[in-house]
Amino acid sequence: MLDADFFRRWLASVAAAVDREADRLTALDSPIGDADHGGNLRRGFTAVVAVLETEAPAAPGAVLTLAGRRLISTVGGASGPLYGTLLRRTGTVLGEAPQVSEAEFAAALRAGVAAVATLGGAAPGDKTMLDALVPGADALLTSFAAAREAARLGALATVPLQARKGRASYLGARSVGHQDPGAASSALLFEALADTAEAAATGEAPGE
Ligand code: ADP
Ligand code: MG
Repeated sequence: MLDADFFRRWLASVAAAVDREADRLTALDSPIGDADHGGNLRRGFTAVVAVLETEAPAAPGAVLTLAGRRLISTVGGASGPLYGTLLRRTGTVLGEAPQVSEAEFAAALRAGVAAVATLGGAAPGDKTMLDALVPGADALLTSFAAAREAARLGALATVPLQARKGRASYLGARSVGHQDPGAASSALLFEALADTAEAAATGEAPGE
């Protein structure tokens, strides 16, 4: 079972990964965007970690809804409302249960991903974060490790696509040949999730 502490550790691990990879995310956002994705997410997840430390919600759903609200209020770019919606919807579906099963989390996350698709009007193949979020959340029904791998491959598979949503779509055919920055950051979310689950299984904090 997964408790509030698991989700706090996951989001702290995401914050650490985003911090470590911020330059790469911003570099991906240069040729097909406005070179702010790394900075946007660094600001957002730093604020998420801070608010979770001060408020320390006791249930998984509350951790995720608070984190989602914080992302929406701190990130100006498109990714803030999209990731904020992902976490908020996932948290709302989990409700007030003090612990949730992996299967319950996987189902809730798929609802969160569906909310991102509704908000942004995008579908897999449009060269957005959904190209990593959808396969990642689907594979979470199997395992954390399968989700990490599916999201990683989904992000890489955005390279040959032409963007149909978001800022990169303004470039038309010139968006082909570049990895989508949001898909790359979504892969980091699943990487951090698998790291957190593996650390929990071995009794260590992730990254130690
Ligand atoms: P902005 O585009 O406002 O500068 P960011 O650079 O932080 O915001 O995030 C860009 C990422 O957001 C894109 O790489 C893409 O993955 C994602 N994105 C943009 N628009 C959409 C959308 N309509 N649906 C899903 N994802 C989107
Ligand atoms: Mg940008």
